Amino acid sequence: MQKSDIVKMDGTDMKKIDKKILMILMVVITTVTVVVMLVRSTKAYEVFLDDRSIGIVDSQSTFTELVENIRKQAESRYGTEVFVASKIDYKEVYLPDSGRIINAASGESISQVADSVLLEVKIYAINVDGEDIAYFRDRASAEQVLEQIKAPYVQDAENGVVTTFVEAVCIKERIVPSSELPELQDPEEAYSDIMQENETIKKYVVQKGDTVSEIAERLGIRVKDIEKANPGLNIHRISIGQELNLSVPRYRINVMQTKTTVYEDAAPYRVEYEETDELYKGETKVKVRGEEGKKLVKACYISINGYPEETRILDDTILEEPKPEIVLKGTKERPRTMAYGVFYWPSRGRITSRYGPRWGERHSGIDIAASKGSAIKAADGGVVKFAGWNGNYGKLVIIDHENGYTTYYGHCNTIKVKTGQRVARGEVIATVGETGRATGPHLHFEVRKNGVPVNPLNYIK
Ligand SMILES: [Zn+2]
Repeated sequence: MQKSDIVKMDGTDMKKIDKKILMILMVVITTVTVVVMLVRSTKAYEVFLDDRSIGIVDSQSTFTELVENIRKQAESRYGTEVFVASKIDYKEVYLPDSGRIINAASGESISQVADSVLLEVKIYAINVDGEDIAYFRDRASAEQVLEQIKAPYVQDAENGVVTTFVEAVCIKERIVPSSELPELQDPEEAYSDIMQENETIKKYVVQKGDTVSEIAERLGIRVKDIEKANPGLNIHRISIGQELNLSVPRYRINVMQTKTTVYEDAAPYRVEYEETDELYKGETKVKVRGEEGKKLVKACYISINGYPEETRILDDTILEEPKPEIVLKGTKERPRTMAYGVFYWPSRGRITSRYGPRWGERHSGIDIAASKGSAIKAADGGVVKFAGWNGNYGKLVIIDHENGYTTYYGHCNTIKVKTGQRVARGEVIATVGETGRATGPHLHFEVRKNGVPVNPLNYIK
């Protein structure tokens, strides 16, 4: 028994013991508090979308699922592939409770995140000459539109026709932010937009043997439309080289067809001239007849939207050389009194009576009114066949042009030439009068071809 020990304990000892206990107690309490706090707090993740904090989640997979849900919803909404474009980062945090945690099941949190997450949508564009003209959910829709445009021409492939587009047309994959998503079209809708007619005028040069109805049939257009595009055109009177306006359709995308063919054609001969003093100036004579050769032509026919556009000659190979035509060309000085074959006006004045029917008879020439005594000139060179009085003609001069033609000059006042005399074109042969059957001073002028009167106006230059 250590009775004395107990008894010996004084007040000072008691104070030391109290302090120790207090210290131990404090350590214990602190430790317990920390442990309790540690046990009760939760590990969580702060989520950053594009470096911007948007909230806390209990696990990364919770958020991943949430974003995936948003992506899938967008996919079903747009009907095409959707990607998440936002950068997602997580930061570990400890929270006393889970009150601020985004819950994947909560609609409110979904819309909050959906507003913040950047989505990108994969779409397909029909691109024409570098410009997107229509957008689609999938490549197949875009392809369908292009095929539909070409469809009416596909059958021509059997005949070696290559069908392409006039424009550079392709399908482009585009990834666009969902906020900038253009209107996506159905193939049918896009097709009718593209095929909106945007009419343009095209020229056609009339070829030998063309008629308007033939051109219309060949180009698949209506005669009525040709008339409409060519105001004032007489469709029964078109001439080679004349330009016609043909109204042909043009669209946003136009179909071009090309066909290359090879065919044999005539190779035209050239004409070579050889000078000779055996012919008069202005006279020509074929010395050696030309002969056409043969050539192999490679040509490319181009049509646009089914309308012939152009024929391009790609290559020309001579199979058989043509033989040139050799033509003699006169150098001998022509006598002034020799006919040129072209008549000049024999006198100046107004035509008072034309060739043809007159008062139940036939007027065999033309009457040119002029004052008495004015000059009458030979219409062309020749020899005077007659110079004197001849009944109704009064004083008459007849010139033989020695080329089948004769000219008559009637009702003269005075005659300045004699039978057998050679005269040059423009030489004065008589003066205007009113001898014979005439009612006033005038020249009665006739042209006869092999003795038969013809209309002088068709021969005078
Ligand atoms: Zn007359």
